[in-house]
Amino acid sequence: MKTVVENLLRAHDGPMTSELVLRPAEFGLGRVPGRLQPASTAKSVCGFCSTGCSLLVHLDESGQAINLTPDPDHPVNLGMACPKGWEALTPLVAHDRATTPLLRNAKGQLEPVSWERAIAEFCSRMKGVQARHGAASVAALSTGQITTEEMALLGALAKFGMGIADLDSNTRQCMATSHVAYKQSFGFDAPPFTYADFEESDLLVFVGANPCIAHPIMWQRVMRNRRNPSTVVIDPRRTETAMAATLHVPVCPGGDLALLYGIAHLLVSRGWIDRDFIAAHTTGFDEFETFLRDFTPARVVADTGVSESTLEQLATLIGTRERVSLWWTMGVNQSHQATRTAQAIINLALMTGQIGRPGTGANSITGQCNAMGSRLFGNATSLIGGHDFANPDHRAHVASVLGLDEKRIPTAASRAYDQILGRIATGGVRALWIVATNTAHSWISHCGFAELRRKLDFLVVQDMYATTETARMADLVLPAAGWGEKEGTFINSERRLGVIRKVSRAPGEALSDFAIFKLIAEGWGCGGMFRQWRDPAAAFAIMRALSAGRPFDIGGIRDYDHIEAEGGIQWPFTSADALVSKFGVRSSEIGQTSDTAQTPNSDLRSPATHERRLFADGRFFTPDGRARFVFDPPSPLPEGANRDYPFVLITGRGSSAQWHTGSRTAKSAVLQKLAPNSAWIEIHPADAGPAGIANGDRVRVSSRRGTTEAAAQLTPSVQRGQVFIPMHFPEVNRLTFPAFDPHSRQPAYKACAVRLERLSQE
Ligand code: SF4
Repeated sequence: MKTVVENLLRAHDGPMTSELVLRPAEFGLGRVPGRLQPASTAKSVCGFCSTGCSLLVHLDESGQAINLTPDPDHPVNLGMACPKGWEALTPLVAHDRATTPLLRNAKGQLEPVSWERAIAEFCSRMKGVQARHGAASVAALSTGQITTEEMALLGALAKFGMGIADLDSNTRQCMATSHVAYKQSFGFDAPPFTYADFEESDLLVFVGANPCIAHPIMWQRVMRNRRNPSTVVIDPRRTETAMAATLHVPVCPGGDLALLYGIAHLLVSRGWIDRDFIAAHTTGFDEFETFLRDFTPARVVADTGVSESTLEQLATLIGTRERVSLWWTMGVNQSHQATRTAQAIINLALMTGQIGRPGTGANSITGQCNAMGSRLFGNATSLIGGHDFANPDHRAHVASVLGLDEKRIPTAASRAYDQILGRIATGGVRALWIVATNTAHSWISHCGFAELRRKLDFLVVQDMYATTETARMADLVLPAAGWGEKEGTFINSERRLGVIRKVSRAPGEALSDFAIFKLIAEGWGCGGMFRQWRDPAAAFAIMRALSAGRPFDIGGIRDYDHIEAEGGIQWPFTSADALVSKFGVRSSEIGQTSDTAQTPNSDLRSPATHERRLFADGRFFTPDGRARFVFDPPSPLPEGANRDYPFVLITGRGSSAQWHTGSRTAKSAVLQKLAPNSAWIEIHPADAGPAGIANGDRVRVSSRRGTTEAAAQLTPSVQRGQVFIPMHFPEVNRLTFPAFDPHSRQPAYKACAVRLERLSQE
């Protein structure tokens, strides 16, 4: 073990860029501001959100990052970056980086230990728990923030090497719904769109999405649309995007599913559906048409708070525009009937034939930078590489590629995040390994997590920082390198693989998550099973092999340099695609053209660089090639407002300068100046007046779970009877109600009942 650790630390100290470094003259880097003149530049995809912007990281003579600028040539961001991207290097030099393993001592304090000691403790205590309480007494929670190679190695190590059947990820909190919805409707988790669709639509409908601040570069792509499109925002709040939209539809919380069925009802009754497409490419429409009869305008107006004229206007827009794209994100995914709501959006695209053409699609926008990688390779809900645990052929294929005994592969998916926490409460789980997520802050109704922690015999947190709410509770902290301190791939919202590069040395003895997993494999005694996972590049080769024959087949991608040279590559990209690319064809011959020319010779781009969307041929990934109409009746909010708790609390992203629990963005003084540093609550002035609440007052906010305080912001952007608190502050999840979508088990963060009390005036 000592030799393995020494080798890893030596490698960790080695050159940070090699053939990957680009010469500065090629990029006119003399214009780059900063105290040092850069010697070279490396490209790296941003590590915050799922947009997948490319950044040019400028390096000094030693290869250390000194500055960055957005990549002007990348097809995703076209030279733009949001505030988080501009500040991507700052969190790496934060004072509270975890620089050495920390082990809780007999006095209850975390103290530095060697990697050898840390790995020995990890393995002996985890194995001890398994020996005393059974293999299922150890579970793990992972993330959408590490590279795909790291996710794949973690999933394989935990499930096939360590016997940890229950490994879930924080992508359960953001994207599980889209995963399940697409899988049931299309036969595979396959977002069909490409970002060019933002620029090629006549009508863009955003449901529970606020791209102005949540995905600002995507919104910039909408702004580039030359077709003079209409934009619609369906959201209880008048968000930044709603203020910029052609039409804001202020649906009541939880009313979106009924609203979408009401739109479908009108489309049928007006004859604005594509019966040829429905007949040729879908299954289940007759039953859906019958189901829709109950969703009359009168009922939908009563159930949603949306006026009949707005409903008519919305249906007319969707029914009569040539190119309609429908987009959703957390407002849908984090609701109590999330999967069926996402599928109601998919149903609208299917019944109108608005899919597979430029500017169309039922399009889920992902949250985290690599949630899409987690969906394919996390080895939680789906068997690694987009396979099914229950399918014996899939298990045999995975075992063959990984060189494993097939018996090591579980026949069922992992329990979900909430079920794992539930098993801690009942004593079923006694040891927990948390990788790069901040459960004690982000979990719904998290005030219970401190209690859960007391029930654990052993809690390990692997993170960049020793100061997160969760790391502070750990028995063992494993210090991890962050974005920019390691190599690997991310997959963005439009299925585009991008590469992250090592442009900075991790501090102290922090190691990449990949290296930590390799150390644990050695310590556990199963290192031999993972010899072929030599490094991230070797892991990528394994991922390619796992993808063979699957809808996301990436067998045509050679390596990281290939991805980078093409400006990222969208899946699928098969060996056959690679051949076409090698010999060159005109895009008009491929039939998947984008009508937005981004390069002067856009008609002679290789297929790899095309903006490529799925389902142009109308064939889906179901056994019969047909998409499914999936639907269920709406159900009421799990916890509606009443006399004691008269307001519905909505949560969401607060600004483009904040990211999730603030573990990284709170480290930036620049980002801290761009948004309030403490929790605020948005209240409608007509509600605040009778409660005696003025702008800036401290307000006590209480739900049935807990109480917190926030500063009042009076604004008509929330409707009467509703209030809003951003998700970035720990206060908010003291209040939220732990309801879950029954199909995806995604937490319903978006609505719970609260009451307000004025504390003081500022
Ligand atoms: Fe990074 Fe997302 Fe901002 Fe792009 S939009 S710079 S990917 S955080």
